[in-house]
Amino acid sequence: MSQKPSPLNVALSQLKLASDKLTLDDGLQKMLSHPKRSITVSMDIHLGDGSVGVFNGIRVQHWDARGPFKGGIRFYPDVSVGDVTALAMLMTWKCAIADIPFGGAKGGVCVDSKKLSKLELERLTRRYVSLMFEYLGPHRDIPAPDMYTDAQTMAWIMDTYSQLKGYRVPESVTGKPVEIGGSWGRIEATGRGVIHCVKQAATNNGLKLGGASVAIQGFGNVGYHAAVAAQEIGCKVVAVSDSTGGIYCPDGLNPQTVLAHKEQTGSIQNYQGCKNVTNQELLELQCDVLIPAALENQITSQNADKIKAKMVAEAANGPTTPEADRIFYEKEICLIPDILANSGGVTVSYFEWVQNLTREQWPLEVVNRKLEEKMTKAFNDVEAVVAREESDMRTGALMLGVGRVANAIKTLGLWP
Ligand code: GLU
Repeated sequence: MSQKPSPLNVALSQLKLASDKLTLDDGLQKMLSHPKRSITVSMDIHLGDGSVGVFNGIRVQHWDARGPFKGGIRFYPDVSVGDVTALAMLMTWKCAIADIPFGGAKGGVCVDSKKLSKLELERLTRRYVSLMFEYLGPHRDIPAPDMYTDAQTMAWIMDTYSQLKGYRVPESVTGKPVEIGGSWGRIEATGRGVIHCVKQAATNNGLKLGGASVAIQGFGNVGYHAAVAAQEIGCKVVAVSDSTGGIYCPDGLNPQTVLAHKEQTGSIQNYQGCKNVTNQELLELQCDVLIPAALENQITSQNADKIKAKMVAEAANGPTTPEADRIFYEKEICLIPDILANSGGVTVSYFEWVQNLTREQWPLEVVNRKLEEKMTKAFNDVEAVVAREESDMRTGALMLGVGRVANAIKTLGLWP
């Protein structure tokens, strides 16, 4: 296998591993390796300078045996159908592990969002919804934020979907701003959920988190809120990074002031009292907990050996390759896999959908309490499989997720 396998190859090899361990029959294995639907569209919009821009849009719907398709939309320059398929597959297992009634999907728009104006991004988002309209909906497929999309993007999605329907449908998308039906706590949910898992893993492994050092790669919505939540439980955040590079401060840094610095200067680097590091150096720093919260394929056979953390919690989707997984297992590094660690986002998306369907709005404390309950339950469900199978956590999580989806498919049967 090459140094950086494609996300789809990784997802398929993970599925194979879980299916073999679960002794799933060939038919089920084949069914689960193929998405139910892949849609690609070409989106033409007027750019600010009067020219026409043409962008590719993708939505892959993997499986919906346990409920409507669910998953984010990312805006990323070279996102491919293969990458989106892998991410949709991860969503299917993630929703099953979190035990929420959704299947898995993912969307992608090939664009460098930093190069478009707000108006251009709005046009692009609305165009995406108009072209995907017949495949979306609160009981079909419910989008949400992912890389380089946010609550504003979701507001445009909800508005476009609602206008095409002729009435307001807040439950058609999650991760919306609170004033139009978003849930309190959704923005922080993924980052908070990661730290719930870290807490749970520390308790189970007899690790003390008070004063533990945490390094976080990625300072977007997920990385930032993971940093805040880590600080809240008494950890010391020693390093953070964004796409331009990172900073390291062994005495600990304050995520809020780092964010203010980033907003002021446009970069996280050159922060007073910290040493500049590259994104690769950050991964190899001396720390107790490492949280990759950026891109796929960051930890490979090339650098897994150099990682000094005792625990790695995958806030990003697919940051670790299977070879790196094996190295961690041999080195007894506790790896909390993406499909468990970052499931807090989709869990609160589920709460948002329920609130929209029932026309309710729950207070933040209720959302946070329910999130913690769900994350703890999911963590312990995975741990039960790990103990039974004497496996690593990724294998345990995959077996739980794939097993639940396979059971649903078997119960539904094949028609016609
Ligand atoms: N994009 C997020 C994820 O990868 C959230 C998906 C959702 O809320 O539907 O889990």
